[in-house]
Amino acid sequence: MRSEKFDVLVVGAGSAGVAAAVASARNGARTLLIDSGPTIGGELLSGMTIDGAINARGERIIGGVIDDIVNECRALGGYARELNDWRLIRYIACDPEYMKMAVARVVYGSGAEVRLNTFADDVARNGDRIEGVIVRDKQGRSLITADVYIDCSGDADLCALAGSEMLPADKDTKPQPVSMMFRMAGVDTRPLLEFVREHPEYFAVGESDAIRGGRTDKEIAEEIWKQGEPCVFLKGDADFLGSAITRGEMFPTALIMIQPTSAARREVCVNATRITLDDPLVSRAYGKAFGVLIDQVQQCSTYLARRLPGFENAALSGVAPRIGVRETRRVLGDEILDGDDVFAGRKREDGVAKGCHHIDIHQEGTGQIRIPVADGGSYDIPFSTLIPKGLSNTLVAGRCFSADRRAQGSARVMGGCLAMGQAVGTAAAMASDTNAPADVRAVGVKHLRSRLKEQGAILEGTH
Ligand SMILES: Cc1cc2nc3c(=O)[nH]c(=O)nc-3n(C[C@H](O)[C@H](O)[C@H](O)COP(=O)(O)OP(=O)(O)OC[C@H]3O[C@@H](n4cnc5c(N)ncnc54)[C@H](O)[C@@H]3O)c2cc1C
Repeated sequence: MRSEKFDVLVVGAGSAGVAAAVASARNGARTLLIDSGPTIGGELLSGMTIDGAINARGERIIGGVIDDIVNECRALGGYARELNDWRLIRYIACDPEYMKMAVARVVYGSGAEVRLNTFADDVARNGDRIEGVIVRDKQGRSLITADVYIDCSGDADLCALAGSEMLPADKDTKPQPVSMMFRMAGVDTRPLLEFVREHPEYFAVGESDAIRGGRTDKEIAEEIWKQGEPCVFLKGDADFLGSAITRGEMFPTALIMIQPTSAARREVCVNATRITLDDPLVSRAYGKAFGVLIDQVQQCSTYLARRLPGFENAALSGVAPRIGVRETRRVLGDEILDGDDVFAGRKREDGVAKGCHHIDIHQEGTGQIRIPVADGGSYDIPFSTLIPKGLSNTLVAGRCFSADRRAQGSARVMGGCLAMGQAVGTAAAMASDTNAPADVRAVGVKHLRSRLKEQGAILEGTH
């Protein structure tokens, strides 16, 4: 079997893996980033906004690799604006076509090596160490060894293959639905925002005190108008969309989330489709879901063009490259991030990343739990939640890190994933930079925090 050695192997090139590989390579480690798919960037390329980077008070809580990617996207002409959703959060809206180039430039510029269509297929484990990962590509199977391994597969594949314990799934409810994002171009913002002004009751507005700031729904609609961006959320339980669901013109959904992606194309991204699976890891169910979601894309884009002011001349301009998955496995780490700490905005001395997104758990049909972080602030993500229990040379980041279901429902957004990725990539490079066998727990958290801060991470000084 072919065999190669790196300092750090990152499995999965979504937002967490991209940041991990960049941070690892910039900190001097010979880094390999692999993905089973044909591209890098994950949901950063779907057109959705980057949430969890700016808290509801307007403070930036994530810095470093995210800035390089967003600045590159902006410099290329790719929209990249910080906006208030006037509902719960503030976010960064980007053009996904330019984002494809921005992510590639930052990753390749870091010196990390990239392999695509490369699936982590098996793991050789000895005691508390992963000794190698067997990958499968078009040429067959080969062995990759590294000092440190990072699981950014979203589904915790690497840790599962290594036999790590996973956190139990919620027995009473199914995992969050899977969805297919799509985009529509030729949207006329003015009539859309006039409609919001006339009918704020149809839209989700001011769902947290930090965003509402004592305003009435009417006053918030005025703010949305003043912002002048097609950034609105049609509510599934309000009359306009609700009656379309009742008469079967639309499938049941909590919200139709509309967010700008390009001023030049007058384009928005639409997040509305959904299907709940017992387990998104079962490929037969996942495969069937694709057909259902594509039908929903057609149904929702037709509904918007027919019914929503501003969409009369809009046309479908893009469908996400893959089904979006919100929730699968979660690894048991040295510690489990707790939903109460997220809700309370708890700060910690061992925090190596931050989150600020509301606890956001999509459910079947029109259901969705949305609980804002207290006072529009942020919470810290401790290093111990990024260390899989029982492994000494492995780290985890992204939506499969060690968190209870509520905490995952917040930290899973791309801001949090990018920040966790930067933290583990930096820690992995530091752990590999010794003569002794790499031990991620031997990287002092103080030392790691100061390295992260030197490199732009925001770890303190915010609400
Ligand atoms: C429909 C939807 C809407 C969302 N809306 C927003 C939003 O508006 N804003 C926001 O910030 N966040 C949003 N999120 C959440 C966010 O996009 C994701 O949680 C986040 O991108 C997850 O990043 P990740 O890097 O942890 O995992 P992923 O993006 O899932 O990346 C994992 C990567 O690992 C690869 N991989 C998996 N297994 C293997 C293997 N065995 N070998 C090799 N490679 C492997 C996969 O191909 C994939 O590229 C949304 C999510 C969904 C699904």
